[in-house]
Amino acid sequence: MTVELKYYGHACFGIEGGGATLLIDPFLTDNPQATISADEVEADYILVSHGHGDHLGDAVAIAQRTGATIVANFEICNYCEAQGCEVHPMHIGGGWDFPFGRVKMTPALHGGQVAGKGAGGYTTVPAGLLLTLDGCGIYHAGDTALTTDMTLLEGQVDVALLPIGDNFTMGPEDAARAVDMIKPRVVIPIHYDTWPLIGQDPESFRARVEPRAEVVVLKPGDVYEF
Ligand SMILES: [Zn+2]
Repeated sequence: MTVELKYYGHACFGIEGGGATLLIDPFLTDNPQATISADEVEADYILVSHGHGDHLGDAVAIAQRTGATIVANFEICNYCEAQGCEVHPMHIGGGWDFPFGRVKMTPALHGGQVAGKGAGGYTTVPAGLLLTLDGCGIYHAGDTALTTDMTLLEGQVDVALLPIGDNFTMGPEDAARAVDMIKPRVVIPIHYDTWPLIGQDPESFRARVEPRAEVVVLKPGDVYEF
């Protein structure tokens, strides 16, 4: 089976796999890299790593329009459910077998605000997302610092989506160390070049990592199949 990974810029991906259309961290409105608008994207499930505006993004509006189920941690789901969305709450360390495959929430070290209209009372912790679908392990690290917890992912990840932007998350140097802990086959750098504060050269990241793993640099709009 082929899994299709569509990069929409920043940390946002569409995934076709496991017989479903997934969307991860749908920050499209106000995303200068976005190649699709929140009005035209489709989803059966929307996976959200954490509550910041550049990750929760348009999740509520897209779920309201498409009827997609939002998969996120308990607190973010409470907020989205209050906005009328279908939700599947999870939390760090927990996994669930969905019709398309398995999702497990992994720890991430980052901020916990939930950004959104009326979200003032909601705070939580951020997460990473470990997906297993069609026999492939995909790890979306969310926004995080380098943590030794990442060593626990070794052997489970074929394709790792790692932030390299620095300033708010791991930079190229720490992301390269994360590759050594996780040992994926392929790494796709994310969360860079959206704004000047996270400007990076993905080729310098490639030089740090290869040949220990293959670095696939996607431009917004690119599709990667495996
Ligand atoms: Zn972010």
